[in-house]
Amino acid sequence: MARRVGRLLGALACAVAAGSCAPPDPPQEEGRVNVVATIGMIRDVVENVGGQHVRVVGLMGPGVDPHLYKASEGDVRRLFRADVIFYGGLHLEARMGEVLEEMGGRTAVAAVTTGIPVDQLLSPPEFEGAHDPHVWFDVRLWAYTVDVVAQTLAKRDPAHASDYFANAQRYQAQLRELDQYVRAQAALVPQEKRVLITAHDAFNYFGRAYGFQVRGLQGISTAAEAGTADVQELAEFIATRRIPAVFVESSIPRRTIEAVQEAVRARGFDVQIGGSLYSDAMGNPGTPAGTYQGMVRHNIDTIVRALLREP
Ligand SMILES: [Zn+2]
Repeated sequence: MARRVGRLLGALACAVAAGSCAPPDPPQEEGRVNVVATIGMIRDVVENVGGQHVRVVGLMGPGVDPHLYKASEGDVRRLFRADVIFYGGLHLEARMGEVLEEMGGRTAVAAVTTGIPVDQLLSPPEFEGAHDPHVWFDVRLWAYTVDVVAQTLAKRDPAHASDYFANAQRYQAQLRELDQYVRAQAALVPQEKRVLITAHDAFNYFGRAYGFQVRGLQGISTAAEAGTADVQELAEFIATRRIPAVFVESSIPRRTIEAVQEAVRARGFDVQIGGSLYSDAMGNPGTPAGTYQGMVRHNIDTIVRALLREP
């Protein structure tokens, strides 16, 4: 334990000595709670709940894959300076486990998924007893994370507790509307066409919540690469079912799903690439998909448009 702290402090010293390992963060502000969040979707919840009382830094930007992400020296420095750290948990940030565990002894660290009732979590057999971490695709489940953020901020900063809880209620009302929107859009697609094929198995919660059969080329984590047999099996499924479109993901190389498209064509069926979905990271800040709500809308609109296109 002590040795690991020493190693982290060593990395911190290096970051300070090197000076320019990462772009400088805006200065910490007195009176505001300094928060670090791992993925963009969590940063977005914190911004909505914390409002003017918090200053949030997100570690993983657009296009970054959380399954493979390792904390940089700059990240370790940010984590050390944070008042509160929010992460997904359920092994989402698989390679940050040790760093996050270490921080738990020093500052408030909360996995936002602890707010979700365990019986609503998926436990796919290939995940060997662990839960599927991609909970943000079911908007109703994601709304539980808002409570965890509000409670954690209120505990750290009791003077503004009533603001955090009021903001949380307002944001949860927006999420209920968003959930209704996704349901209404999904209902436009006939049942037999509701098949969602993506690069990795991120969409199982989406499938369960909104009535889609879901297939991913890679597993729940992107850490294991898809083999030729996986590509051929998925191509056979697509050609047999005559599925009009497959989807690429913003945080996964495009060639993964292009290999499937080629294998389907070799079977005499032409499957389209239906567009790019935001799976484990949001879009660029300032673009419509740069917020959680915008990302969810982009995904459902893209899916519905592609699946309703005539072959
Ligand atoms: Zn994923």
